Amino acid sequence: AKAAGRRQWRHYRPALQAGLVERHELNEHLDVAIAESAFQLYYQPIVDLHTGDLVSFEALVRWPHDRRGMVLPDEFIALAEESGQIVPLGAWVLERATQEAAGWHAVSSAVRAAAGRAPLRVNVNVSARQFRDPGFVDVVRHALGTSGLPPCSLVLELTESVLMRRDDRINDDMATLDGLGVGIAIDDFGTGYSSLSYLREFPISILKIDKSFIDGLGHSPQQHALVEGITRIAETLGVSVIAEGIEQPEQRDLLAAMGCPLGQGYLFAHPLTAGQARALVRDATHE
Ligand code: C2E
Ligand code: CA
Ligand code: CA
Ligand code: CA
Repeated sequence: AKAAGRRQWRHYRPALQAGLVERHELNEHLDVAIAESAFQLYYQPIVDLHTGDLVSFEALVRWPHDRRGMVLPDEFIALAEESGQIVPLGAWVLERATQEAAGWHAVSSAVRAAAGRAPLRVNVNVSARQFRDPGFVDVVRHALGTSGLPPCSLVLELTESVLMRRDDRINDDMATLDGLGVGIAIDDFGTGYSSLSYLREFPISILKIDKSFIDGLGHSPQQHALVEGITRIAETLGVSVIAEGIEQPEQRDLLAAMGCPLGQGYLFAHPLTAGQARALVRDATHE
């Protein structure tokens, strides 16, 4: 493997640990990829834990690369945040994901409505740097306008790093998005400095409990109590909950028993290609 030379570093070394020259090179590659929209979105189902019904998909970006294969976001998102390239990349993700979701609506909304089911949603990850960009709300408005997706079918997943800073503009932007009907989720809840007070300070509609808590279900009474407590408080405040990274049937059963409404994880499905997601939408519509 050593003989393969330094080009191999990318296969195992996260971008932020790379040297300056390598980073510079990766930034240039990212510029080209952004200019050519050379990314792909995968879509991971989010399901109702009680009925198994498909309710949303989380859009997850990948970078298909001729030499490196499919590059995962952990290898380039942090670098794109650092360089500011996340702003145009994130705008592309929003445009693409809302267009795709409008396509799901075209084939499923009428049938779902007749069966009393809400329209499918799409969850889009938004990094702190992207959210703080002054043009962000307009990017969201533009994506909704060109796709025709109803705002209430879009959920923006923010990490607490957005919420930690006290900043009037961020509060105004959240209020504007909330006013449009766009949902706001706190991602990776329970890691870092998550605080339940965010739930009353900001117009949060969904809380995503991090996989590290779900992993402990069934073994750790403490984790169990935490997940159950978070779920109860969220319910009381009218905030929905998605449990992330469900891999075992026992985890799903415990979560459903404690009243957690929604879940996501390899137990249900891995992230799917756009074509696979479309096929699932069709199947789930007519089941
Ligand atoms: P995240 O938002 O916490 O997304 C969940 C990650 O967990 C995804 O990894 C998903 O493939 C993985 N996952 C889902 N279910 C399971 C499971 O049951 N077991 C395990 N072990 N893993 C599971 P992925 O796609 O590699 O994304 C990694 C992170 O990259 C995401 O974490 C998110 O923070 C970031 N990311 C992905 N797409 C975007 C994007 O379009 N914009 C931004 N700003 N960040 C993104
Ligand atoms: Ca997420
Ligand atoms: Ca997450
Ligand atoms: Ca995560």
